[in-house]
Amino acid sequence: MTSVDPGLTGQTVELLQQLIRNACVNDGAPGSGEESRNAELLTGHLDGLELTSYEPLPGRRSLLVSLPGTDPDAPTVLLMGHTDVVPVSPDDWREDPFGGELIDGEVWGRGAVDMLNLTASMAVAVRELHRRGRPLRGTLKFLAVADEEAGGTWGADWITANAWDDVACDYVLTENGGIPAPMASGPKLVMTVAEKGIGWRRITVRGTPGHGSMPYGADNALVLAAEVVRRLQAYSPRAVVGELWRGLVDAMALPDQQRDALLDPGRLRDALTTMDPKLARYCHAMTHTTFSPNVIRGGDKTNIIPDRVELEVDIRTLPGVTSEDVDAMLAEALGDLAERVELSPVVKERPASASAVGTPMWDTLARRARAAHPDAEVLPWMLVGGTDAAFFRRRGVPSYGAGLFSAKASLQEFQSRFHGHDERIDVDSLGLSTQLWLDVAEDLLA
Ligand SMILES: [Zn+2]
Repeated sequence: MTSVDPGLTGQTVELLQQLIRNACVNDGAPGSGEESRNAELLTGHLDGLELTSYEPLPGRRSLLVSLPGTDPDAPTVLLMGHTDVVPVSPDDWREDPFGGELIDGEVWGRGAVDMLNLTASMAVAVRELHRRGRPLRGTLKFLAVADEEAGGTWGADWITANAWDDVACDYVLTENGGIPAPMASGPKLVMTVAEKGIGWRRITVRGTPGHGSMPYGADNALVLAAEVVRRLQAYSPRAVVGELWRGLVDAMALPDQQRDALLDPGRLRDALTTMDPKLARYCHAMTHTTFSPNVIRGGDKTNIIPDRVELEVDIRTLPGVTSEDVDAMLAEALGDLAERVELSPVVKERPASASAVGTPMWDTLARRARAAHPDAEVLPWMLVGGTDAAFFRRRGVPSYGAGLFSAKASLQEFQSRFHGHDERIDVDSLGLSTQLWLDVAEDLLA
């Protein structure tokens, strides 16, 4: 069993509360986030360690802490936690989203699962290793980054592009894994090894302006845009059955017929209709490059036929799908309308990324996770969203979404709290994650 030090757990709880209260809300605007406040807090917490900070824009500060090892041939592990959070709808919360209160064994607030919980536990573990004063053979780095929630432009993307030598490492651990997932074949612990890519597109639709009093035969950009949206909604590229998907289907222990259908790219989509709708949504995303038209802008005045409408489409790509593939899929989806529209990227594209299992780090994560949940099997998992791990995977660094959670935070519960209302985390999970980082250092760096 995993033994957890209640003193350290208490430190993680307290640090998490403070990080939540700083409310480093990132709404995507360059001036938002103001993560310098959480960087400041962590600087105080890690007083006496070797610190470097990066602030490519005022307020968007990230912090790197190093515990240099004694043996240059020993591995370097980088723990990476983001310090920003997404906005909230405070009226829908039961408690103050920025109160960071401890209520009935749970810390409440925005960031409690995404991912100030892990960021706090990483900082506490690093401070503890420093306090113990026993030098490690390998090097441990902790990178507290800004701007993860808006694509890492002022955080991990910037740092890996401009200060690579500082953060170079053999392994990265970041959000999220070690999460209990009860499944038909028995309890599982999901550990993240891959994530989908980002290929967001802006679609500009043009028409001819005219008077709204005479719509007959008009070339109305909004009407055309509506048809573009309809076609995107109806479009479904062929399913892709990969290793991670096979693993998940096996874990679901389904009747043979259903199982076979879910593993057959030609029948997969229909087979999703037989599943729980929430699970089906994830399973669809895991096996398809997805297109979600989420923003429309256009029209100026009720009596003017609009000549320009912009759509923004959230496109998430599977491993191996290139930017050209995305454009080809859009051309297929839009058919004869493809030549009537212009496509441009919304944000910098990011291909899907994956790390192999079976590395010494993977083995340690699996072993330590199972020490806390002896009945569970570790299941390699793909995130359908994006994290800062992508910036390290693209440089060939094996990167995993890790952590360690108690049975109180099951995968299903956990997923509803991501960017959701009433985000909170149980104290046991905070203790387990703190201990995991110490155990990783013990196994790989000591
Ligand atoms: Zn996150």
